Amino acid sequence: MVTAELPSFCKSLFSGVIADDLVFPYPTPPPGESEMMAAYLDDLSRFLDAKVDAATFDREAAIPEDVLEGLAERGVFGLWVPTEYDGLGFSQAQTARVMERIAERDAGLAVVVASHLSIGIKGIHLYGTEEQRRRWLPQCARGDTLASFALTEPEHGSDAAHIESRAERAPDGTGWVLDGHKIWIGNAHRAGVITTFAQTPVEKGGRAVDRVTAFVIEGDQDGIEIGRIWAGEKLGIRSSTQAEIFFRGLRVPDDQVLDLPGHGFKVAMNVLNGGRLGLAASAVGGARTILDHAVDFATNRRQFGRPIVEFDLVGGKIARIQLETYVAEAMTYLTAGLIDRGGIDYSLETAICKVYASEMAWRAADDALQIAGGRGYMRDRPFERHLRDARILRIFEGTNEVLRAFIALAGIERLADYLESIGQALREPIKDIGVLTEFAFHRIRDAIGSRQAGVEVAEPLAGCLRQFERFTGFLHEGAEALVRTHREEVVNEQFQLARLADMAIDLYGLIAVIGRAQAVFAREAAERAEPEIDLVRQFCREAGARIEQNRSLLVENRDARLRRIAAHAVAEREGVLG
Ligand SMILES: Cc1cc2nc3c(=O)[nH]c(=O)nc-3n(C[C@H](O)[C@H](O)[C@H](O)COP(=O)(O)OP(=O)(O)OC[C@H]3O[C@@H](n4cnc5c(N)ncnc54)[C@H](O)[C@@H]3O)c2cc1C
Repeated sequence: MVTAELPSFCKSLFSGVIADDLVFPYPTPPPGESEMMAAYLDDLSRFLDAKVDAATFDREAAIPEDVLEGLAERGVFGLWVPTEYDGLGFSQAQTARVMERIAERDAGLAVVVASHLSIGIKGIHLYGTEEQRRRWLPQCARGDTLASFALTEPEHGSDAAHIESRAERAPDGTGWVLDGHKIWIGNAHRAGVITTFAQTPVEKGGRAVDRVTAFVIEGDQDGIEIGRIWAGEKLGIRSSTQAEIFFRGLRVPDDQVLDLPGHGFKVAMNVLNGGRLGLAASAVGGARTILDHAVDFATNRRQFGRPIVEFDLVGGKIARIQLETYVAEAMTYLTAGLIDRGGIDYSLETAICKVYASEMAWRAADDALQIAGGRGYMRDRPFERHLRDARILRIFEGTNEVLRAFIALAGIERLADYLESIGQALREPIKDIGVLTEFAFHRIRDAIGSRQAGVEVAEPLAGCLRQFERFTGFLHEGAEALVRTHREEVVNEQFQLARLADMAIDLYGLIAVIGRAQAVFAREAAERAEPEIDLVRQFCREAGARIEQNRSLLVENRDARLRRIAAHAVAEREGVLG
């Protein structure tokens, strides 16, 4: 469970604090685990190679049953589930490796698994009683049934705190009666277990107010109706299936409530906080396949008498995909390590991984298609499918716009706590987009660290670490100035918030690659680390340039003009569009 009282590396950065003990040393598998994982992944890869044909799955908008059965036999539907509930008991890092491997083969298949594993059953594990865990986790972990996470409604997507599904106490006082409507719910057409959310009356200060409650529903209960089913009728991840659910007078016993009535929004947000890591791992796997295809094409296609990879403007795209995949992977496994350590607030880190990895995968797919030219545009090559598949990653499990606001506001919330005078005013607006609001009323800087990283890194990485320290100062100063200028109105300064978020994303990427390369230095001969040094230094330069630019734009920008242009574009169409 995540609360803001726990230490957080990224939140601390907003206060100018580098809690380096949270990110150094870079997490590496414990002794013996690598061999076990290698054997597991080898077997899984052989199975996927034999059974997964992404082009056919995409065309037919379906996954053959024997693929799901084979995954179930290999424990994929219960990867991180503890062994006492029939899972494999894998760590988050091991789970991420498997998600990567599946996404390398088919993005839609990865979405089916993630809808079940990353979000469908997570709430039961995090908030279920022992009895609830025993009731639902084993059947899901074995893959006897698929699970769903049903939050989104037609009128409430990003604004999930205001969903309209409602549950009232049953007239006979036993349990609840649920009415509601959910859309685009992964696996819902066949799910035996569905974690869902509805407004319920809760007593607050002597009167009834509406608060979200989390319920676990069984797919065969009376009162559940599956409406529209989306398989092929969407842009990408066509082998996965989403469905519409209607709850009509559904009777839900009290023992199917997760956590306390009224605590469901926290349940939903914490499930998504963790789920975003699976999405980032899938994006890394997808990008690796895209890179394979791009390199294959660029080395075989000849123009002007040379393989096109020899032209800088093609090779440069290959370099970009390689670099950004490396960064996304470094962030993902740094974050997996934080989750595996326990006792750490990782909500910002998983949001950062999701935003960076999803945009990285989109750029990779776009660049790869460009490398393939006209052939990239045609269905007989994989490039257009990669582009279609990558697009959803920026939308679900929190759109990247909402997550950028979340990253900045959650960072500012800690800073505002530090600048205590305006902390209270910030709380309510922040809560609405899913930031948890338990505060630790202590001065972060005194409590957890300083603005200098205390670690030593190998000489070739030292310059990047010093830059990281300098850039952290920029984030802190920028955030503090913004809060002082706009006070509680800062929530409406989205251009500025996005700049802070982008600075935090670049900073986290930078510390992740420094840590990762340092771990290679510590383990291997210096020559082996050389390719990594190139990647770290290149990212340091590029991230640094972006951070410098965002720093200037925080001070001087043309945001007001952009708002005027948008308002004008809207006004011009007033009365014209329906
Ligand atoms: C293929 C697919 C699978 C899905 N699977 C599931 C699932 O399994 N379970 C589930 O519950 N949901 C699922 N969803 C729903 C998904 O999570 C939502 O689409 C997503 O949360 C966004 O909601 P929305 O589409 O209603 O967009 P909206 O919330 O209407 O947003 C529209 C646009 O406005 C922007 N926007 C909204 N609010 C703000 C703001 N405050 N600041 C800045 N910009 C803002 C958004 O970023 C977006 O660009 C799925 C969706 C798809 C397409």
